Amino acid sequence: MNGLWPDDAQCVVNLSFDVDGRSGWILRDGSFADRPGTMTLGEYGPKVGLPRILDLLEEYDIKASFYVPGYEAETHPDIIPSLLARGHEVGHHGYIHEAPAELNEEEERKVLEKGIGILQEQMGEKPRGYRAPSWDVSTRTASLLAEYGFLYDSSLMDDDVPYILQTEKGHLVEMPVQWLLDDFPYYAYNSAAGVRGPDCSPVSVARTWIAEFDGLYQEGRCYILTMHPQLTGHPSRLSSLERTIRHIRSRPRVKFMRLDELARYWLDSHPSTKI
Ligand SMILES: [Zn+2]
Repeated sequence: MNGLWPDDAQCVVNLSFDVDGRSGWILRDGSFADRPGTMTLGEYGPKVGLPRILDLLEEYDIKASFYVPGYEAETHPDIIPSLLARGHEVGHHGYIHEAPAELNEEEERKVLEKGIGILQEQMGEKPRGYRAPSWDVSTRTASLLAEYGFLYDSSLMDDDVPYILQTEKGHLVEMPVQWLLDDFPYYAYNSAAGVRGPDCSPVSVARTWIAEFDGLYQEGRCYILTMHPQLTGHPSRLSSLERTIRHIRSRPRVKFMRLDELARYWLDSHPSTKI
């Protein structure tokens, strides 16, 4: 027992999905909106990948965290209700996948407010979690998130357990992420956009994700895996995710949590971690 996690868990695991759909491609280049090849590449996520992922999560009774750009929520008004009905969490992920580091303060506030407004309208409450598109926050993002009442951010990379971020507007819980535990660097490929990833074998990706889990489990840390329905929603990749889940489940004292639950737990039980 390492004392960090609820229910005497050795390791906490979170599965998270960024439902970027078309938004990330349109943001990358507005002309892509008129290129059906790229638009349908993105659309595969909400249209085909997401339902498959939801079925898999249901089969393993796992509640996950989903980050939905406002544009995707507007253009697919069925997404958020279906996530909430299955007990998943929905967090803020920009309006059209804007990286805060590329915005000035006025623009960053506008995007935050627009995303909050759309999610609040569909969820009946404000989102408590935020994940920066491309994990590319600005130097003011943490302070703005605290100002707008967010509980946590999940964009930074300097730890593998949560920690408290103090800002001039209050504190947030940071739920750290890693490119190593993201499907994008392994699977993303779109020649029209100049994205030519290695298009890795899902078997090798699962091997990498499992090896990282084994290390974090041994040390009693936290395992946060980030995926995209337009990438991981394909059958071969989904079966690799399933293999990863089965491996994780084969270990004793592993607890799957949504990031809002984990952030709340961390805040309530680790006040001494405040800096
Ligand atoms: Zn994204």
